[in-house]
Amino acid sequence: MNPSDIEFDQRHIWHPYTSMTHPLPTYPVVSATGVELVLSDGRRLIDGMSSWWAAIHGYSHPVLNEAAKSQIDQMSHVMFGGITHPPAIELCKQLVAITPDSLECVFLADSGSVAVEVALKMALQYWQAKGEKRQRLLTLRHGYHGDTFGAMSVCDPENSMHNLYKGYLPNHLFADAPQCQFSDEWQPEDITPFKQLLLQYHDEIAAVILEPIVQGAGGMRIYHPEYLRQVRQLCDEYQTLLIADEIATGFGRTGKLFACEHAKIEPDILCLGKALTGGYMTLSATLTTRQVAETISQGEADCFMHGPTFMGNPLACAVASASLKLLVDSPWQQHIQSIEAQLKTELFPLKSHNAVADVRALGAIGVVEMKQPVDVASLQCHFVQHGVWIRPFGRLIYLMPPYIIQPKQLSRLTNAIADVIIKQ
Ligand code: PMP
Repeated sequence: MNPSDIEFDQRHIWHPYTSMTHPLPTYPVVSATGVELVLSDGRRLIDGMSSWWAAIHGYSHPVLNEAAKSQIDQMSHVMFGGITHPPAIELCKQLVAITPDSLECVFLADSGSVAVEVALKMALQYWQAKGEKRQRLLTLRHGYHGDTFGAMSVCDPENSMHNLYKGYLPNHLFADAPQCQFSDEWQPEDITPFKQLLLQYHDEIAAVILEPIVQGAGGMRIYHPEYLRQVRQLCDEYQTLLIADEIATGFGRTGKLFACEHAKIEPDILCLGKALTGGYMTLSATLTTRQVAETISQGEADCFMHGPTFMGNPLACAVASASLKLLVDSPWQQHIQSIEAQLKTELFPLKSHNAVADVRALGAIGVVEMKQPVDVASLQCHFVQHGVWIRPFGRLIYLMPPYIIQPKQLSRLTNAIADVIIKQ
């Protein structure tokens, strides 16, 4: 790639969470196939990130490419107001079939953050329709739900977003995050902070929103399924809606198709995104029960008040349908189980290193938590030199590779991590 293009990029284009005055370096990628990203100078990097949880089947998959191409020849987009089309119907049939039985009504939107906004609005409209003034949300510290205002208001309050936008964000309730890890022995007191808040404020709370089992961008914390089971039970007891944000965990990543299955619970509202299209383009879905949907529809507005321009985009729906079919027809459980076993074998020995605070793995997620924040730019440079794509943040160096990764390729990723840690 022309050096002047990189200069242009640095000077004119925002990247996620970066500065315009001292941007982090960006690496020019010109193509991607299978589990490899190809840089403009021809170097190939094994991808450990699945483009932030999304590219579960790897890149440029022939089935997904074909789905996109043939849909383009039919139509790329048509408005969803007053119109429907086969790709949306087919996708929603699949979503209703593979998600928990009680979830029947699907709202298609543009991105994960918007799926969360939709879920929050559903909860607010639900209580409004029932004639109850419930407008607060109860959530967990260390959570992450997106970057739009509603979503930000339920992200961890300690990170800078709440301080930055003080005064603009509504005042929600935050329970201390679960401490009991996934495979620890369950400690009954783990649920106490959540239970106390619910008990105290239940008649103001419209919904509980959380990431089931894995708190992702807020710390890659993997918590005990009993916690989630008790949250469901308490929401039933105090008649509060439960929103499960499975935008990151959905579609097999934790070893179950949906992370809620670890606790054998069903949420009232479910948010999906990221891997929904196999990482091809942006699309999200918010599913809810018939009871919630009907209550909303009998409220003051007679309808649910949301309708984005690109709602149900046929191109995205066609690719999502193909991606779901590819997933459910594949032996994905076996792939994820062997990725998990290999992550444990190859990353867990790092636990004994002085600079490492913890190492954990679940499904196709492997996390090395350091004691100190890492220098992202220098680690990134090291990883690229080792032929791998791993993007750390904060104190976390983590992997969530495409499910099609082969053992040797996965070892390249874990070796690269071990190498940087041993050199600390
Ligand atoms: N919820 C969770 C759990 C997420 O991990 C993310 C994205 N990292 C979002 C919501 C927001 O999704 P998007 O970036 O597509 O808006």
